[in-house]
Amino acid sequence: MNITLTIALALIVLLFLRRRSVVNKGYGQMMRATGALRSNLMPVPAYYRELLQKYFRYYQGLSADNKAIFERRVCRFMYSKQFIPRGGMKEVPVEVKLFVAATAVQITFGLPNVQLTHFNKILIYPDNYYSTITQRYHKGEVNPAFGIIVLSMKNFMKGFLYGEDGVNLGLHEMAHALRIENIVRQEYAFFDQPLLERFDRISERLCAEGAVGEGSIFRPYACTNLHEFFSVAVENFFERSVQFKMELGELYNIMVRLLKQDPILLQVNPLTPSATTA
Ligand SMILES: [Zn+2]
Repeated sequence: MNITLTIALALIVLLFLRRRSVVNKGYGQMMRATGALRSNLMPVPAYYRELLQKYFRYYQGLSADNKAIFERRVCRFMYSKQFIPRGGMKEVPVEVKLFVAATAVQITFGLPNVQLTHFNKILIYPDNYYSTITQRYHKGEVNPAFGIIVLSMKNFMKGFLYGEDGVNLGLHEMAHALRIENIVRQEYAFFDQPLLERFDRISERLCAEGAVGEGSIFRPYACTNLHEFFSVAVENFFERSVQFKMELGELYNIMVRLLKQDPILLQVNPLTPSATTA
């Protein structure tokens, strides 16, 4: 083939591909922008409901009314966020998107107006990943500067499938995101600030006294800093609620007031007033 013709054809193909990627990008943005609306108008796919009922412990314990609210919020989260596969993955499985969304809805279920809007990108790696910034392997992290939550799929799935060991990567990272969201939202700090400060003071005291760590409900990692303590507390709040309340009652009660939900009551008497507001 004539070289000029070859170059011309190559250019046409390139232009076409570029245009298609721009169109796809625009389509994706448009779909995410209408995510909240679509989640209200479109029926919740039966497959989503089936997966939640089968595997998501928190959802299993909700009343029928709260399950319906939960499902809508899961769809809103799924439809509004950009899930980006990393580490050689071609795409993020819909099941992973669903459970990541369910984890975000779980932690914010008592805070109906909080959708972690600052974090609009969720990066999913198949397993632990190497961070060039910290030069270490990670299971997950949040990047407030870019509004990104990063999760290792393997560790994330392990987190909620083994639901009573107090280790849950999804809840851990969502808790970091939630605390950051509370700061970056100038117009609406949803946490009661004095209460959060009290929580931090108690956590400092517990760590200084050595009351947290080996042999206690919280693993030693909790005492790394205030943010890690909060995230580890959230993991235990949902996964080992009764033990948490028995061992660290004051802290548990503050967490109930911060997150405006009580996982113990939610299981026993599922209809909580704060969670019923869509
Ligand atoms: Zn952490």
